[in-house]
Amino acid sequence: MEYLPIFLDLKNRPCLLVGGGGVAHRKAVYLTDAGARLTVVALELSEELQALAHDKGIFVAKRAYQSSDVDGMQLIIAATADQSVNSQVYKDAKSQGILVNVVDQPELCDFIVPSIINRDPMQIAVSTGGASPVLARLLRARLETVIPQSYGKLAALCNDFRQKVKDHFANVPERRAFWEEVLQGPIAEMVFSGRESQARAALQKRLDQPHASKVGEVYLVGGGPGDPDLLTFKALRLMQQADVIVYDRLVSPAVMELCRKDAEQIYVGKERDNHSVPQEDINHLLARLAKEGKRVCRLKGGDPFIFGRGGEEIETLVDEGIPFQVVPGITAASGCACYSGIPLTHRDYSQSCIFVTGHLKDGTMDLNWKALAQENQTIVFYMGLQGVPVLSQKLIEHGLSPDTPVALVQKGTTPDHKVYTSTLAGLPDKVAHTKVKPPTLIIVGNVVKLQEKLSWFNAEGERRSFEETMPLEEG
Ligand code: SAH
Repeated sequence: MEYLPIFLDLKNRPCLLVGGGGVAHRKAVYLTDAGARLTVVALELSEELQALAHDKGIFVAKRAYQSSDVDGMQLIIAATADQSVNSQVYKDAKSQGILVNVVDQPELCDFIVPSIINRDPMQIAVSTGGASPVLARLLRARLETVIPQSYGKLAALCNDFRQKVKDHFANVPERRAFWEEVLQGPIAEMVFSGRESQARAALQKRLDQPHASKVGEVYLVGGGPGDPDLLTFKALRLMQQADVIVYDRLVSPAVMELCRKDAEQIYVGKERDNHSVPQEDINHLLARLAKEGKRVCRLKGGDPFIFGRGGEEIETLVDEGIPFQVVPGITAASGCACYSGIPLTHRDYSQSCIFVTGHLKDGTMDLNWKALAQENQTIVFYMGLQGVPVLSQKLIEHGLSPDTPVALVQKGTTPDHKVYTSTLAGLPDKVAHTKVKPPTLIIVGNVVKLQEKLSWFNAEGERRSFEETMPLEEG
C-alpha cells in the first residue's frame, strides 16, 4: 500500500497554505471546513480566496514566502505556480519533520488530498495513489450519484442512538441485525426524504417495542418511458433495495433488468380492455405485502401521477396506515418528444402543452374539445390509438386545421422507438395503414413541423441515415 488512508482531526491546528490561486482556494476550503487554524502566504490572492479568508478568519500574509513561515506548523500545502518556491516549501517542511503536500507533484508529497464525497459526518475519500487525479474525480462522480445526499443525516441519527442501542442489545449479533434492519428499511427512508423527527420516533419505538410486528413500505416508482438511462437516482436505489417488485406492461425489460436480482417479481400487467389484475386488487396487494414487512417497489411506466393511477394506489395505503414514497419519473410525453426532436412548446409555434387521455369510453372521449382545439397549443394524447378517428374528427370540428401536423411516437425511447408523421385529417388512414403498435403517444400541433429538422426519424418512422441528418458538403 503506497499510502495509508487516515482521517485527520485538524481542529485548531496551525496549518500553512502557500499560494493564492484557484487551486489554493480549493485547499483552503477543505482545511477551513476541517477547522484548521490556517495561515495563507501569497503574493496575490484570488478574489474568492480573499472572500473566504474574510469569512473564515484565515490569517493572510501578502508577501513572498520565507522559510520561517513553516515554524510551528503541523501540516503544509504548497500550491504556487512557482516551482522553486514549491520546492523550497517542501525542503523547509522536511527539515522540521512537518507533513507537506506540493500540489500535483507526488514526489514532493508526504500525503495526498483525496477526492472527497462529503456526507457530513460521513466522509468517503477516493485516491488513486497520485496515479490519476482525473480517474479519482470520475469515480467520485459515480459514487455521488449512488449515495443519497442525506446519508450523513443517517450517520448522525445512528450516532445519537448508538449508546441506547448498545445498552439495549448486550449481544453483538443482535445489535448488528438491529442496525441492518434500521439502515435498509423505512426508518432510513424517512431520513432520506427529510422526515428526520419521524425517523427518530420510529427508531425509539423499535427499541421500546422490539416485538411489535414490522410494517414494510411501498415505493411508488416512476420507471420512465423505457430507456433505463432516464431513471432517477432515487428510482434506481429503491428498485435495488426492494424485496418485491410489482410491475406492469409499460415497464421496459431494460428497466426491469436493473431491479434487485433476488427480489420477488409480481406482474400485474395491464393491457387496454384486458386488465389482468383489477386495480382494486393491485391496491390491496401492495398493502398486504407491506403488512408482511416487505419493502415493495410498485414500478410503473413513465410518471406514477400522470395517467398512472398512482393516486388510487396511495389512497389505499393511507387508509391502511402504510408508509409510502412516490418517486416521479419521466413521463412518456417528455421522453417521446425529446427523443423525436419535437419541442413540446416553442416560442413561434406553441405557448402551452396539454396532456389528455385518449381512452375511448362507449366509443367516444369525454374531453373539452373547444379548449383543446387551440392554434398555439400542443396536445399530447396518452392511450389514444384506438380513438384516432374520433380525436381527428372532433379537433377539426372544433376549429383546428385539417393540415395540423401530428406525430405518432411508438415505443418511445426504447430500441424500437419509431416516429410517424401525418396531418390531423390523414391520421386515421395513417394508423390504419401503418402497423403502429402500442404503447404509442400522439402529439398534435405545429411543433411537430420541427420534427423533420430536429429528428433522426423520417416520416415513415425509420431512423434517418447519418448522411441524411448530417449532410456532408461536396468537394
Ligand atoms: N404513467 C405513464 C402513462 C401511462 S398511460 C407516463 O407517465 O408515461 C399509458 C400510455 O402512455 C400509453 O397508452 C401510451 O400512450 C403512453 N406511453 C407510455 N410509455 C410510452 C412509450 N415508451 N412510448 C410511447 N407512448 C408511451
